[in-house]
Amino acid sequence: MKNWDDHLDLLIRARTPLLWIRSGEEERVEVLLNQAAKRLQPRRVATWDYIEGLKGALNSEGLGSRQPMLVLQWLQKLESNNPTILLVKDFHRFCEDAGIARMVRNLSVELRQRPHTLVICSGHWTPPKDLDEALTILDLPLPQEPEIRTLLSNIAQVSRSDLDSEVLEELTHACSGLSEARVRQVAARALAQRGQLGREDLAEVLEEKRQSVARSEVLEYFVTNAKPSDIGGLDALKGWLDQRHQAFSDEARNFGLPLPRGVLLVGPQGTGKSLTAKAIAHSWSMPLLRLDVGRLFAGLVGASEARTRETILRAEAMAPCVLWIDEIDKGFGGDARSDGGTSQRVLANVLTWMAEKTSAVFVVATANGVERLPAELLRKGRFDEIFMLDLPTLEERFSILKLHINQRRSSLNLPLNAVVDRTEGFSGAELEQTVIEAMHLAFAERRELEETDLILAATQLVPLSKTAREQLDSLKQWAASGRARPASLKLSQALRPT
Ligand code: ADP
Repeated sequence: MKNWDDHLDLLIRARTPLLWIRSGEEERVEVLLNQAAKRLQPRRVATWDYIEGLKGALNSEGLGSRQPMLVLQWLQKLESNNPTILLVKDFHRFCEDAGIARMVRNLSVELRQRPHTLVICSGHWTPPKDLDEALTILDLPLPQEPEIRTLLSNIAQVSRSDLDSEVLEELTHACSGLSEARVRQVAARALAQRGQLGREDLAEVLEEKRQSVARSEVLEYFVTNAKPSDIGGLDALKGWLDQRHQAFSDEARNFGLPLPRGVLLVGPQGTGKSLTAKAIAHSWSMPLLRLDVGRLFAGLVGASEARTRETILRAEAMAPCVLWIDEIDKGFGGDARSDGGTSQRVLANVLTWMAEKTSAVFVVATANGVERLPAELLRKGRFDEIFMLDLPTLEERFSILKLHINQRRSSLNLPLNAVVDRTEGFSGAELEQTVIEAMHLAFAERRELEETDLILAATQLVPLSKTAREQLDSLKQWAASGRARPASLKLSQALRPT
C-alpha cells in the first residue's frame, strides 16, 4: 500500500480541498487517514457522523449532531494553524440536498487556500453533476497481501495463537479478495470457536470469498466440474489453452513471457463456449467468476460505471481466477444515444483495464454474434486470441455424440455413422439433446438405447442453423476474413473415425 499512501499524502499536501475515497471500508479508511496525519504532522484527523457529531476536534466534540450543515460551517471557520483532515461519514447521502451541495462547492474553493481536507468515503455513489468538478477521486483497492499478512499475524499475536509461517502464507493467499472487515470476521469466528488461527480456517475463508462474490450484484462464483475431456472436438482451441496455462507459471515469467490476458470465443449458440469457460477454470484450478453483463447495466444510469470498477477490483483481488464475461455482445452493443453513452464508457473502462492489467485474471468472453461487438474489442492486443467455434464437423459430431452417450450409458458402444450423417448443422447442444431424446424413446420401452433411437431423435429435431441461416453465414464470412482462428482442427471430411 506504499504507493497508495504516497498518493494520499501528495493529495493532502497539495491542498486538495475535497477528496472522495472510493471504498466501502470506512473503518479502514479512518485508520489510513490517521496514519497519513501522523506522517503529515501537525495535521490531525477529525470525524463526523450524523448521530455522534464531531469527534477528535478538541473544543467542538459532538458539534453538528444531526446537523450536517453545521460541520461544514465549522470547517469553513477553522483556523489554518490547525490543519485538519475531516472525514464526514455517509456524507454522500447529504450531498443530495441543494444547500449542502452548494456549501460543499463553496468550501472546495475556499479550502484551496487553507490546509484542510474534506474527505467523503463511499463505495457506491453517483455524485450530483455540479459536484463532479470539485471532487478528487482516490480508489482504495482491497487489502493487498502484505497488509493481510500483517493483519493476520497481529490478530494471531494478540490472541496468542502460534501461526507458523507456512500456514500464515496459505491463509494470507486465501484471504486476498476479502475486505479487511471480512478478514477480521473470519479470524474472530475462528478464535471464538477454537481459540486459535490455523490451517483449518482455510475452508472458511474460501466460503467467505464465495459469499463476498455473492454479495456482488454482477459477479457469480461459479462452481463447476467440467473438464476439457467433456468437450468434443475444438482441438485447436484445447491445444492453445494448454499452452496458455503453462504461461501462468513462474518459470514462464522468468522466461520473459507476459501473463495471459484472455480469449474471446465467438460462435453460434450451443457450440460449447460456456462449457469451455467452465473447463478452463476447473482444469486450471482457478475460481470461475461469471460476470452478468446485463446486470452491469441494470438500474440507474451512471451506477454501471461504479459497478464495473467494483467488479474489476473484486476480480483482481481473487486472482488467479477466470473472469467469464458471458454474452459480451449483449452488453456492449448498446446505442450511445439511448443510454447516454454509458455502455461506451463502461466498455472503455473494461478495455483500459484489459490493456493495462498486470494481475492473473484470465478473461474468457463469449459472444453469439459479432455484428454488435464494438470494433475496439476485436482489435489485436485486447485478447490473446479470438476463436471462432463453428458448428461441429463430421469428426466432431462423432466425438460429441459418443461423449454424451457414454456420460449416461458408460459402456455402450453404438455404431454412429448414420446419426453423424444425419446431424449436419447440429450444434453440440443439439447433439446432446438428440442423445437425451433417444434415451427417452428407449426408456419408454425399458430397453437399451439403440442406433435407431438416435436416428429417429435426430430427424425430429430442427437445428437452429436451419432457422437462423443468415446469421450463421455472416458469422462465417466474418471468421473467414481472418479475424478469428478456427477452434476446430479441420480434418479431411473423407476421414471418418471408426
Ligand atoms: P454456448 O455457450 O456456446 O451457447 P454451451 O457451452 O452452453 O454453448 O453448450 C450447452 C451444452 O451443450 C453444454 O453444456 C454441453 O453439454 C453441450 N455441448 C455444446 N458443445 C459441446 C461440445 N463441443 N462437446 C460436448 N458437449 C457440448
